[in-house]
Amino acid sequence: MDNLEKINLKKEAEPSLKKINIRKEKEKHFLRKRKLKLKKEAKPSLKKRNSLKKDNKGQIFSTDLLIGIILLIFIIGTIANITEKSHEKLIDKVALTNLEEQSIEAMDYLIKNPGNPEDWENNVELNNGIVNNDIIPGLAIKNKNIKNGQFEDESNSPYKITINTISYEKIIKIQTFYKKLIDENLFNNSLKSSIAIYPVNSKIQPIICGDNLDNEDSNVVNVERLVKCNFLRNLVIYDFNDLELQGRNYTRDNFCNHDNIVGIGNHSNNQKSIWLCKNFRIYKNSLEDYNYYLISSDSINNFNCYWLIENLNKTTDRSEKLNKEIIDLNPLFEEDLKNTYETIYSIHFKIPKTNANEFNSCLVAIPNNLTENGIINENTLKYDYYKNQDVQISLKTK
Ligand SMILES: [Zn+2]
Repeated sequence: MDNLEKINLKKEAEPSLKKINIRKEKEKHFLRKRKLKLKKEAKPSLKKRNSLKKDNKGQIFSTDLLIGIILLIFIIGTIANITEKSHEKLIDKVALTNLEEQSIEAMDYLIKNPGNPEDWENNVELNNGIVNNDIIPGLAIKNKNIKNGQFEDESNSPYKITINTISYEKIIKIQTFYKKLIDENLFNNSLKSSIAIYPVNSKIQPIICGDNLDNEDSNVVNVERLVKCNFLRNLVIYDFNDLELQGRNYTRDNFCNHDNIVGIGNHSNNQKSIWLCKNFRIYKNSLEDYNYYLISSDSINNFNCYWLIENLNKTTDRSEKLNKEIIDLNPLFEEDLKNTYETIYSIHFKIPKTNANEFNSCLVAIPNNLTENGIINENTLKYDYYKNQDVQISLKTK
């Protein structure tokens, strides 16, 4: 081979080298591309994962947000509720304080004033069942005095009003006309209320009038006072209670018609017994309007007490055992007063010294109308009703 041929060969060979290089480059390029492709193929899965991760984060975030919002709503709701409730409570408290003040004021008025007019319980229209708009009921007592079976007003002066002692008659009228007298005239229909009288002495029944208000209700205001109630004491002509004050050391300081009469027993005290003697006058016309009773406490059955009642013109020595709590005296008075307008009676009790403190008896004059309207009945014709008694008065309002 000549040189020229060699060169051509070289030339021919050179391109083949180039070719190889190009191929190598191509291979490299292909590999790079493939790597890249692989990478690219791999990347989307990563992306996918990332996007998944992102989705999870989003979900977590939105759940958090949701819980947060719910919590926030709950908190706001609770705060609003608390605020509203405390506001309501505040309003309730203010209302309750106002009600309390109003109730205390009403209670003080009731027990310290006889009402307007003072003797409203004797109002003629009221006794016919018509309640006047201008009657403002109070319960305090305007003093009355009883002379010889007739009721007499001692005075119209307000200084004679006994405060903190309530009138049974007034409370009974309130019980009968509660809606009109208390709801309307006293409270102007602005609230519900009830008034109750609970005697300390269990022999006397409580008096409850007005609305039935629940004790457990926190909106009910209850104002209570300890006062005295006269019950039917007004109807007592004579209270034979000297022994209550002096007991077995009692000495009679008044005249007894038996002291000066020859031939009948003398009523002076001895070692064992005490004589208690009183005189009183009865008018014929009073028998039309009143019933007279001798009422003794049930303790009278525990010992031997003797008694006698006599017209001063018909003195007698015959005493008998006092063993009845209620003795109707009208038949005796009617018999004696047939032919006269008035008679003086004397009543005598012989009481064992050892039982001096147990003796309780009184003479009462009961107006017929009180029996007719039911104020005097089997329950109230008992000794305990004819004394001032401690009672708790309760005014409930809502
Ligand atoms: Zn006597």
